[in-house]
Amino acid sequence: MNKSDSERIAGALNVLGFNKTTNADKADLVIFNLCSIRQSAIDRAISKIKNFAESKIQISNIKSSPKPKILLTGCILNKNKRKLEKVCDGIFKIDDLLELPTILKKIGLKTTKNPNSKIRHYLDIKPDYEIGPSAYIPIMTGCNNFCSYCVVPYTRGREISRPAKDILCEIKTLVKKGVKEIWLLGQNVNSYESKVQNVREIDFAELLKMVNNIKGNFWIRFTSSHPKDLTNEMIESFVKCQKATPYLNLPIQSGNDEILKAMNRPYSVEKYKKLIKKTRQTFKKYRKGQEKILSLSTDVIVGFPGETKKQFQDTKKTLKEIGFAAGYISPYSPRPQSTAFKLKDNISPSEKRKRKKELVKIIENSALRFNKQFVGKNVEVLVFDKKNDFFLGKTRHHQVIKFLSDKDLVDKFINLKVTKATAYGLQGELTKVC
Ligand code: SF4
Repeated sequence: MNKSDSERIAGALNVLGFNKTTNADKADLVIFNLCSIRQSAIDRAISKIKNFAESKIQISNIKSSPKPKILLTGCILNKNKRKLEKVCDGIFKIDDLLELPTILKKIGLKTTKNPNSKIRHYLDIKPDYEIGPSAYIPIMTGCNNFCSYCVVPYTRGREISRPAKDILCEIKTLVKKGVKEIWLLGQNVNSYESKVQNVREIDFAELLKMVNNIKGNFWIRFTSSHPKDLTNEMIESFVKCQKATPYLNLPIQSGNDEILKAMNRPYSVEKYKKLIKKTRQTFKKYRKGQEKILSLSTDVIVGFPGETKKQFQDTKKTLKEIGFAAGYISPYSPRPQSTAFKLKDNISPSEKRKRKKELVKIIENSALRFNKQFVGKNVEVLVFDKKNDFFLGKTRHHQVIKFLSDKDLVDKFINLKVTKATAYGLQGELTKVC
């Protein structure tokens, strides 16, 4: 989401007459787009901003040139705002991106062009996309769920969905330009609803069908989903839309009902398992060949306040039972302003690390099992990079795959025969360039 917001910031600046530079030393203005999901992320960002601000003061003293202006945006908690105000020229909420001309004027930067006055929301700003085969399209922003450990509803505000026609128009333009992977983004894509005169017109199931009907050869992926909002209708639509890849990230967060309740995640482990069963069965019913296999990833928080050893064992058992293709395990990080911040963070950092290690091991085992199924098979791959001698691509099941070739294949769809599998990806040999 931040990557996508950064593209909109660049787009807003383009309109005002600014050009992007990859060299921060030459910039008149540097905007940092922050994420507060974990304390470690914000600590790293704060130190980076401080170092940058200090080095700029030194350079401007030596060269007696004006130092670049620094603005901050993104998810910033009040607690950190006070610290950060000292090292930057201003902080603005991403929702206030339309106010950029006024913000720039206040910090002494001149704009050479006028903004589009018809735009009403920052998501309507035309993004300056990063070049590559993938594009991130926000379909909604904000969240109404208030999971007790999370600050997103406070930093981003309540849910707002973009009109479906704007989303479709943006995707059509991107596909025409050659984009091959479309990521539909939102804090909770399943609660997407496009309204006309306050009447719900299009939900996520319908939106998926409309995106799938856009002409062209491209893949559809989406994130994040919430188990409480993933309906049978959405599952059917997801599976029947052939451009949607067989990959689903569905955060479970804990395998214990009491902890889920304390996290304010309104579903049970049983309900989560039923959803997975239904999704897997629907893939088997409507898709062919490898497409019948669902690649399922999840997110888990370990060491939530009060998580007992027994409750942690329940999570271990649940992860083993479901068998995820990938999993992102995070030690609980208390976030000021969240409800859980009031609870005693009583699991020691070393115990959290130990629990995380155990869950990572379980995920590695199931991921290896999942990836091994593809050895010897032909898979369709979208190539996104080349590092050292190896090309890197993604399969439709969202596995990273590396391979060698003497041709330039970045941004292309190709076919590879899988020769090796690890828990973290695949290796393959080129069989066909599409
Ligand atoms: S669903 Fe929960 S974890 Fe996700 S953004 Fe909303 S409050 Fe945060």
